[in-house]
Amino acid sequence: MFCYQCEQTAKGEGCTVRGVCGKDGETAILQDLLIYATKGIAQYAHRAAQLGAVSRDVDVFVMEVLFATVTNVNFDAGRIAKMIQKAAAIRDQAKKLYETAAHAAGRKPEKLVGPAAFIPAADQAGLVKQGLEHGIAQRKEEQGPDITGLQELILYGLKGTASYADHAQILSVTDDGVFAEFHRILDYLADNPADINELTATVLKVGELNLKVMEMLDKANTTVYGHPEPTKVRVTPLAGKAIVVSGHDLKDLEELLKQTESKNINVYTHGEMLPCLSYPGLKKYKHLVGNYGGAWQDQHKEFAEFPGAILMTTNCIQKPADSYKERIFTCGLVGWPGVRHIDNRDFTAVIDAALAAPGFAENAPEKYITIGFARNAVMSVADKVIGAVKTGKIRHFFLIGGCDGAKPGRNYYTEFAQAVPDDCVILTLACGKYRFNKLDFGAIDGIPRLLDVGQCNDAYSAIQIALALAKAFDTDVNHLPLSLILSWFEQKAVCILLTLLYLGIKNIRLGPSLPAFVSPAVLQVLAEKFNIMPISSAQEDLKAILAS
Ligand code: SF4
Ligand code: SF4
Repeated sequence: MFCYQCEQTAKGEGCTVRGVCGKDGETAILQDLLIYATKGIAQYAHRAAQLGAVSRDVDVFVMEVLFATVTNVNFDAGRIAKMIQKAAAIRDQAKKLYETAAHAAGRKPEKLVGPAAFIPAADQAGLVKQGLEHGIAQRKEEQGPDITGLQELILYGLKGTASYADHAQILSVTDDGVFAEFHRILDYLADNPADINELTATVLKVGELNLKVMEMLDKANTTVYGHPEPTKVRVTPLAGKAIVVSGHDLKDLEELLKQTESKNINVYTHGEMLPCLSYPGLKKYKHLVGNYGGAWQDQHKEFAEFPGAILMTTNCIQKPADSYKERIFTCGLVGWPGVRHIDNRDFTAVIDAALAAPGFAENAPEKYITIGFARNAVMSVADKVIGAVKTGKIRHFFLIGGCDGAKPGRNYYTEFAQAVPDDCVILTLACGKYRFNKLDFGAIDGIPRLLDVGQCNDAYSAIQIALALAKAFDTDVNHLPLSLILSWFEQKAVCILLTLLYLGIKNIRLGPSLPAFVSPAVLQVLAEKFNIMPISSAQEDLKAILAS
């Protein structure tokens, strides 16, 4: 295997024996093959879309494949193997769609080669053999690290974007043009393109696509569940039976809340589900009582101590410890071998496990944090914020957020937030916020100094806030008193970064380490064009920003 798609990759170079994330070699190789097969689907789907023929089954399957291969989503080789077989069937469907549309248009269909002609082996061992022929290592050898790195940067951006597109389609927000662009870019990758300028331009196209998709997801979430509103959230447990829900999927949480009504079970959010507590359509459920625990990398300790059932709706799952393996469930695209999987949002098994577990014996001491500062909430006090900037009461905004992880270097983000002067405001989002979201930052003229915008999925909200501020001050985002200090971990962070670059946002500080797939030559281009830079120390970076 060779995988270098996330920040925790072995030695900062690539996982070659087993993933640091726990992904075994077989699963990694099968995921490579699944991506290869899906490029074949896109070869046909792209051509069909050009002729005006679309199939929602094809579109959704491509999103699901890309999402399933994101870091910390699906570790189940058996399920990936099944998806490869299904990919061949979906490819045949896309082929038929294209050929029918071509004939109807009076054209002779192209005979496609490469991934489009892929025939999967009958069994898993055969698939693994095939997968070895389509890994990254071979391409690296043939095309070199710059070209392969750019190809993978595009693919990882698409994976992150697909996760948002999948969340949006689950809530019935779709767009033919968006799916067509996914197919177009995957079709482009199917040819192993080598033109550096074209690859670099496509990187920004992924950023553009992701902006559209994040807008769709924002529309989906706010239409179905209302706009997040500032909400005081309990972060300590209450006595009683309990279920904790982790991941990012709002629909899964809603269905679980419906199914647990009048069951006398308290439901808690974990990790990136925390922002769900600020949506009117979800917080109306009285048994959604608060948040339990912190970011994904703390789950071993926190889930072991949780006296109830655990539901993983999306990433980031870690190898479950034996102490809670019987109480943890996956749903949607998440998978771990041996962990019970919930199909069709029938959460009966989760409810039974919660009722069989002891639950919390007593109420823990009360502790609350305030969340829910997505775009609508911040815009509603925009006049106040703008006034505070104009009178010098707010000197600078820092967007400190992104994914989190276990590396000690991530303490930088806590240190940075703590060192931000009292006349500055911190915007945060994604699970990196757990580094500091339980600290008391106080307020400036009633405006909280820490504004939690939401999930990584809500980066759209943060972008809209920045664009609105720029408009109010008649300038562009690069000339605002705003600095972006981002932590990245996996492919969702990649697509958000690409969107920021597409928007022309410069001077982003990125850490805790730079992506292994971005070669020194590509990094130099990014640094020259966007002045993107690695983090150094919290004090040094803060000093440099405030002096500029
Ligand atoms: S996802 Fe990350 S940790 Fe897992 S195998 Fe790939 S690079 Fe390694
Ligand atoms: S923000 Fe990133 S690292 Fe955090 S839970 Fe979501 S996908 Fe995982």
